[in-house]
Amino acid sequence: MTPDSRIYAYSAVLMGSPILLKLFEHNESLASGVFRLIKLQESTFTVNRPHSDIMAINHAAGRDPVTVSEPVFELIRRAKAISCLPDSSFNFTIGPLVKRWKIGFSGHSIPAAQDLQTLLSLTNPEDVILDEHTRSVFLQQAGMEIDLGAIAKGYIADVVRDYLRDQQVENALINLGGNVQTLGAGAEGAWAIGLKKPFASPDELIGVINVTGKSVVTSGIYERYFELDGHRYHHILDPKTGYPLDNELLSVTIISEDSIDGDIWTTLLYGMGVEKSLEYLKQIPHIEAVFVTHDGQIILSSQRQFAFTPLDDSYRITTY
Ligand code: AMP
Ligand code: MG
Repeated sequence: MTPDSRIYAYSAVLMGSPILLKLFEHNESLASGVFRLIKLQESTFTVNRPHSDIMAINHAAGRDPVTVSEPVFELIRRAKAISCLPDSSFNFTIGPLVKRWKIGFSGHSIPAAQDLQTLLSLTNPEDVILDEHTRSVFLQQAGMEIDLGAIAKGYIADVVRDYLRDQQVENALINLGGNVQTLGAGAEGAWAIGLKKPFASPDELIGVINVTGKSVVTSGIYERYFELDGHRYHHILDPKTGYPLDNELLSVTIISEDSIDGDIWTTLLYGMGVEKSLEYLKQIPHIEAVFVTHDGQIILSSQRQFAFTPLDDSYRITTY
């Protein structure tokens, strides 16, 4: 991508990730407004601090229902519905396992198989009781913990997009560390979003995804992991076994209108693997995927909403 003098970039570190905002005008106060909004959202949804709306629910597990705001209730309702789909690899009650593994945080370790079994019994999404009338959330068992880590960034990216739209911004890009949402087009008639080379330095790309006004979300096992005795343990857990999901995939990227869909689908498709995902995506034309596999393939489900430019000859491209 050639640098364009019309683009102004603003950055911050929030939600444990580098955040990047690109605008077509120099507007410090707009950028501060965006970062303030993200901070506010983060303080609502985080489970990495003692207090937040979600932590209030977790602290009251097995004891009391907790009334939350409308947007928090809606996000939890959505997360529960996806988690309860048959064979879903998305589970928003995975918190106890995430906290035990501590993947990507200091103090990580491999839990004993017995511990995993105990913790798995605290991850039944049906045990989250939602009451629409009181807008309350109740975790039925003590020790249960909601974790919206797989969905919150996508949700927040859409909140930022809506805020920018309200401010009459026509062209912008927000990158929340792997979750990109765009308004309008970039400098060359489309925004160029890099597809990272797995386990390489962050600026090494194997391709570029061009979109206008779409979201591009990537979930990769190289984002957060630790290695022990020749094994790699990454941060996307299999809700059935409690261990990191293990299949042919290194990353899944979703191109969609809403970033929340991208965030949900990366996790769902990760669990399905390539073949099943490609079959599944035939029925949902508004969701498109780019898979990168261990054996050096880049697989594109379709290319209706984006264009792909490969940058690394060592990867084989397959298009469906
Ligand atoms: P993402 O970066 O969107 O792939 O989300 C990864 C985060 O989601 C992890 O760091 C955990 O907090 C959480 N998580 C891990 N495994 C799952 C799962 N199977 N379902 C839902 N959330 C998960
Ligand atoms: Mg996700």
